[in-house]
Amino acid sequence: MTETPSIFSRIIAREIPADVVFENDRVIAFRDIAPKAPVHLLVVPKTEKYANVVELATGDAALLVEVVAVANQLAIDYSNGEFRLVFNTGESAGQTIFHVHAHMLGGQLAEGTLGD
Ligand code: AMP
Repeated sequence: MTETPSIFSRIIAREIPADVVFENDRVIAFRDIAPKAPVHLLVVPKTEKYANVVELATGDAALLVEVVAVANQLAIDYSNGEFRLVFNTGESAGQTIFHVHAHMLGGQLAEGTLGD
């Protein structure tokens, strides 16, 4: 479901409250409202131009690099520096908000289909 502006743009505009942990000119990060890990942050480019990570990688690779760097720093600041970075890409992969975002999952992660 595509919303304009996206929920994330409304958070950036402070129309919807969020627990913001990082912000600069290009990127914002806040706690996921339904955490799936002890530390679950969303790292979001402020632009609405890119619906998913493939579009972001193609359209602004430097911004994708910045998203990864912010996720890494937040994992250091809010967890033990180790993390899982997830970009759901497409509805059948679980993407519900079509404004590119990374899930930074840290802390003791539950066993799942990846990484164990
Ligand atoms: P995805 O399913 O990959 O598109 O991820 C969207 C994520 O946004 C989900 O994990 C939701 O829990 C989260 N989410 C939705 N609305 C909010 C909100 N208002 N504040 C924080 N996180 C949200």
